[in-house]
Amino acid sequence: MKYLTRFAPSPTGYLHAGHAYSASLAYSYARESGGRFLLRLEDIDQTRCRPEFEEAIYEDLSWIGLEWETPVRRQSDHLEDYASVLEKFHDRGLIYPCFCTRAEITAEINRSAGAPHGPDGPLYPGTCRHLSDDERAEKYESGAPYALRLDMAVALAELGSTPLYFEELDKGVIEADPARFGDVVLARKETPTSYHLSVVYDDALQGVNLVVRGQDLFEATHLHRLLQFLMGLPTPKYKHHGLVSDLKGRRLAKRDKSATLRHMREEGYTPDDVQKLIGFKK
Ligand code: GLU
Repeated sequence: MKYLTRFAPSPTGYLHAGHAYSASLAYSYARESGGRFLLRLEDIDQTRCRPEFEEAIYEDLSWIGLEWETPVRRQSDHLEDYASVLEKFHDRGLIYPCFCTRAEITAEINRSAGAPHGPDGPLYPGTCRHLSDDERAEKYESGAPYALRLDMAVALAELGSTPLYFEELDKGVIEADPARFGDVVLARKETPTSYHLSVVYDDALQGVNLVVRGQDLFEATHLHRLLQFLMGLPTPKYKHHGLVSDLKGRRLAKRDKSATLRHMREEGYTPDDVQKLIGFKK
């Protein structure tokens, strides 16, 4: 099988050795199978993305020897695509506006003992799910900020009793359990999409058939599988890889300056050194 893979960073900081690993792994699946490799910029959070980080992504990936197809898809250029998905979801009763503040959600959760938890923390208690049309109209008119949440019960009812599966390379077929995410946020007033919605839409649109990404996104795949079903999209295969740690065994984060590719370059590392450090080359 020829793999079409992608590396999909958010330009919110400099790439570090962990990104180099993820990108190199995706690249090698594509190369070794005679397939294709794409770079996609997941820049929907415009408050955190910066043009200099985008430039740095191109520079750093080229420096470690990767090549990708152009033009690069930049998610912020395609907000209308995601809006049209949301419109369809709205027509099917799959999403509803939620006007709760974080503090209100926390207070509501604290009131109910044994509130259910999902992979990202306590689940939204559903306060705004049953607002009347009038109440919604009034809140919209007040200009209050809101989130658009997936109505998980409606989504699961559409699914019925059909089980959903995804294939994890080297592991096998896994049954998806999206219910554990509850009424997850799919968009916000000021950011009219979300990571979950855009990543699922774009992977299918771009024909990605193998999603290579860190183990930290494994849980999200359960939700992504449901979104694929709801949008009528094909399901790629997945490879969730272990996370690269620094020399002290700590997981790398964008804030660890010393692990950035640019810092390594300044310190005199060669691309070969980086490939060895991340265990890609002996
Ligand atoms: N944009 C995401 C990130 O930078 C990765 C998305 C993915 O690979 O699915 O963490």
